[in-house]
Amino acid sequence: MLKHDDHVAVGVSGGKDSLSLLHILVKLENRYPNSKITAISVDEGIKGYREEALLIARKACEQLGVRQVVVTYNDLFGTTIDEMSEMELQQTPCSYCGVLRRKAINKAAAMIGATKIATAHNLDDEVQTLLLNMLHGDSWRAMRSSPMLRDPRGKFLPRIKPLCEIPEKEVVLYAYLNGFDFQSVACPHGHEALRNDVRNFLNQMEQKHPGTKFTLQRTTEKLRELLAGSAEVSQLNECAKCGDPTPHEVCEACLMLDAIPA
Ligand code: SF4
Ligand code: ZN
Repeated sequence: MLKHDDHVAVGVSGGKDSLSLLHILVKLENRYPNSKITAISVDEGIKGYREEALLIARKACEQLGVRQVVVTYNDLFGTTIDEMSEMELQQTPCSYCGVLRRKAINKAAAMIGATKIATAHNLDDEVQTLLLNMLHGDSWRAMRSSPMLRDPRGKFLPRIKPLCEIPEKEVVLYAYLNGFDFQSVACPHGHEALRNDVRNFLNQMEQKHPGTKFTLQRTTEKLRELLAGSAEVSQLNECAKCGDPTPHEVCEACLMLDAIPA
């Protein structure tokens, strides 16, 4: 996933996953003098929640000697998740939040001249998202959301998920054993109801049939390899409005932003 001279933009929210990832990458980076790490923190504008997380992220970056860049939805998109939750939009705040966060990190990474973007999705996140995409009927995204996403034409920054094979419980354990101060308060906008159902289902399956999550992950990787040459899966265009990668003509973030009343 990484090269010895990469400048890695790491998404750092202040949660256990991103702090663990940052910690591990800094340890690795110390062995490679030509590599560089910058933390990207995104302020979605969620009062009573994001302030604490940003503070925790800032302290962690200071302790580890990592530069932190903070970008806000308000500056980038002219609105916040709190404001969106008050509007009569077609999708949940989480749907907007996830898409806009990806865009915000893309913008920040390009701004600092990073060569890779690393995010802290763990095994549980990956298999939940896989099943969610399938339940939404989005086969393209189910096959595309790989742990390492590269654009063969080199137009878009590669995205990597170094913790994608680490179960959430092990990430929590790592964070506790290292004494990280991480955010434990839940976001007031909550997670999508469907994701909660999928999470509970997968946890029940894992308890009854240990290894279920790994098996799903491995099976999907094999399917991705088989479909790697398929135009439908590998084709990425530049969004006609913002230039970001998208399988369509206009990216999801631009479509969402257009639907928000001025
Ligand atoms: Fe955003 Fe939803 Fe996460 Fe809150 S729970 S930070 S709204 S994705
Ligand atoms: Zn766009």
